[in-house]
Amino acid sequence: MEKILISACLMGRPVRYDGKGKPLNHPAIARWREEGRLVEFCPEQAGGMPTPRPAAEIEQGASGDDVLQGRARVLEITGGDVTAAFVAGGQKAVEIALQNQCRYALLIDGSPSCGSGFIYDGSFSGTRHPAFGVTAALLKRAGIAVFSDRAVDALEAEIQHRINPML
Ligand code: SF4
Repeated sequence: MEKILISACLMGRPVRYDGKGKPLNHPAIARWREEGRLVEFCPEQAGGMPTPRPAAEIEQGASGDDVLQGRARVLEITGGDVTAAFVAGGQKAVEIALQNQCRYALLIDGSPSCGSGFIYDGSFSGTRHPAFGVTAALLKRAGIAVFSDRAVDALEAEIQHRINPML
């Protein structure tokens, strides 16, 4: 059975920087949970970040790959450099995904860790740009197919296709 690493906040866990969850109600997610496909994980908590914590963004319009190549940092709105914790959390996400044989990851968009369709540009002004966050970039490098929370239907279609290639 294909397993899915899922952002814990999408399951309603109160792990976000503001101490809240961001549950996504979708029939496919409810079904995947019942089927035992979902592996909940929060890379920022796993990297040692407290909850709540200051908002953080990747600096200067850079991407998760830039962070992994040492070309950019992850900075808190208060100025703290949390790059090491974000990379450590992303590496743990890869470990957990591989241990659980996850072929897919379903991650919430916009996060400097979990974003895959867009992240924020480091100015803390709400400005988006298309890029992967640190965890999403590491999972992709590990061969795990990353879907954003806006692409649940696409992930469902992909899984259905693997179950029945005639569909
Ligand atoms: Fe959610 Fe990912 Fe942020 Fe954790 S790191 S709170 S799972 S978006």
